Amino acid sequence: MNASLKKHILIVEDEAAISRFLQLELEHENYDCSVCADGREALGLALERNFDLIILDVMLPSLNGIEVLRRLRQTKQTPVIILTARDQVVDKVTGLDIGADDYMTKPFAIEELLARIRLHTKRAQSGAGALTCGKLSVNTDARVAAYDGHPIDLTKKEFDLLEYLMNNRNIVVNREKLLDAVWGFDFYGSTNVVDVYVRYLRSKIDDVYGVTVIETVRGAGYVIR
Ligand code: CA
Repeated sequence: MNASLKKHILIVEDEAAISRFLQLELEHENYDCSVCADGREALGLALERNFDLIILDVMLPSLNGIEVLRRLRQTKQTPVIILTARDQVVDKVTGLDIGADDYMTKPFAIEELLARIRLHTKRAQSGAGALTCGKLSVNTDARVAAYDGHPIDLTKKEFDLLEYLMNNRNIVVNREKLLDAVWGFDFYGSTNVVDVYVRYLRSKIDDVYGVTVIETVRGAGYVIR
């Protein structure tokens, strides 16, 4: 299988033995794995990159798994399987309430986890990836954008911003929300950065093709319709 077609899974687990075991098993099943042992770091990775699935332990340093999931779900629907210890019934319920796709209780049978990963990556794949609005198309898997079939050369942040607006098309999104979604909850800069990046996008799309893709709604924010 072509390496770039492999599904990419983020393993978030601070117990090194379990994390290593999961990584070996998943790589054996031909998945690409990223590994992280810290909650805050995991949230950063999950927001920045598009994983096919996240395996998320609950008890983690710096930010627990429930909080990681809650913040992730404000902007992204990446499939998440939470790992809970046998006595953490509350975590299991809370996790499902705030948008986990599934949970496994430790210790678990690896075959069962692999089956659930197959199920949830399959569901996520169907219909996801391609967003279109008129002549504008954005492929979130390949991370490429095009207007009327012509590729648009975008930086990472420009792409993230366009992707977020496309995911929320017909919804006016304010600057704070965009800042949160694209630059992260711990970005302390001014919301002016959003206006700057909208200008960059317009210079690469609107100005080139003589169209208005991103509308400014005075006092409210931006929208793609
Ligand atoms: Ca743990």
